[in-house]
Amino acid sequence: MSRDMRYFNVVVLGAGGVGKSALTVRFVQDVFLENYDPTIEEAYRRVVEIDGVRTSLEVLDTAGAEQFTALKELYIKSGQGFVLVFSLTQEASLREVDNLRQQIYRIKGGDTSIPIFVVGTKLDLVSEREVSRNTIQSLVARWGIPFYETSAKRNWHVSDVFQDLVKEMPARYPDE
Ligand code: GDP
Ligand code: MG
Repeated sequence: MSRDMRYFNVVVLGAGGVGKSALTVRFVQDVFLENYDPTIEEAYRRVVEIDGVRTSLEVLDTAGAEQFTALKELYIKSGQGFVLVFSLTQEASLREVDNLRQQIYRIKGGDTSIPIFVVGTKLDLVSEREVSRNTIQSLVARWGIPFYETSAKRNWHVSDVFQDLVKEMPARYPDE
C-alpha cells in the first residue's frame, strides 16, 4: 500500500545545557542558536523523505525541570522514539542518559524494541572533551543502543540521527 505521509514523534531528553535545543533546531530549521532560552519546551515538525517515502516527524525538545516528573512520564508514555542527549564535554551528563534509558524501559513496560538513540553533542569543542569514544562505545554496546557524536554548531551528523530514527520507526510501528 502506498501512502502520502507517515507520522511519527520523537522526544529529545537529557540534562540541562547539553544542547538538546541546539540539536533539535539545527535539524528542524538548519540554524545554530547560540543562546536558546533553556526554559523553552517546544514541539517542532519536519518532513523527511527516505527512499521516496515522506515522513512527518514531530520532535519534542524538552526542558526537563526535575520537579515536573509527571510531565516527563507523560512525554515518555506518548513518545514513539527517543533521543537521549549528553554533552561530550561533560561526563556527568552521561548519568542522566542512563537514568532516562531505564525510566523509558520502565514506563514502556520493559519493551526494549523502542527506538532509542544516544547522542553526544559539542563534538566541535575538541579541547573540552571529557568523554572518550572508548568510554561511550563500551556503554552503548552494553545497552544495545545506537550512538552518534554530533555538533549542532558545525552541523556534523545531526540529520543522521533523525534520519536513522525515521528509518527504524516503520518496523517498530507498522500500523502507523
Ligand atoms: P539544552 O538546555 O540541552 O537545550 O541546551 P542548549 O541547546 O540550549 O545549549 C546549551 C549551550 O550549549 C548553548 O550555549 C549552546 O550554544 C551550546 N551548544 C549547543 N550545542 C553545541 C555544539 O554543538 N557546539 C558548541 N560549541 N556549543 C553548543
Ligand atoms: Mg533547551
